[in-house]
Amino acid sequence: MKYCTQCGSEYQDGVKQCADCPGSELVDAETMRQRHIPLPGEGDTRKFVRATTADDPFTAEDYARLLQVQHIPVFVRPRRAGTVDVLTTGTLEPWWEIMVGEEYLERATQLLAREKAELDATADDAARAAEEEERETEDTPPPAGTL
Ligand SMILES: [Zn+2]
Repeated sequence: MKYCTQCGSEYQDGVKQCADCPGSELVDAETMRQRHIPLPGEGDTRKFVRATTADDPFTAEDYARLLQVQHIPVFVRPRRAGTVDVLTTGTLEPWWEIMVGEEYLERATQLLAREKAELDATADDAARAAEEEERETEDTPPPAGTL
């Protein structure tokens, strides 16, 4: 199938030109997606797919904000790693899914990868700083009551 890049009408592969839009291009569904042109019937039923996950709500929020700034439709969906009640096991960590409009997945993935790298770099700095601080306070006896 091919689609008109102007009106979105569907055509057989053999057709060279849209009947309604003289001079417009007919392309396949893949190309339509790459150009962010909704296919027939897809316009209003936007599908959301998971772009990445976060281990804490702050990271999730940070990711969501990053994508919003880029005008990418996004929402955060809190999840748990399993269906067992967290109170009875005490081992299950909650996590967060970053959901984006399907047609923005590729762009969102790139942006998130970059953001993640920056966050990791910051975390490394923080870890280094903490280590240095630890070395400085190594000889300090632990506060009473911790033993
Ligand atoms: Zn057309």
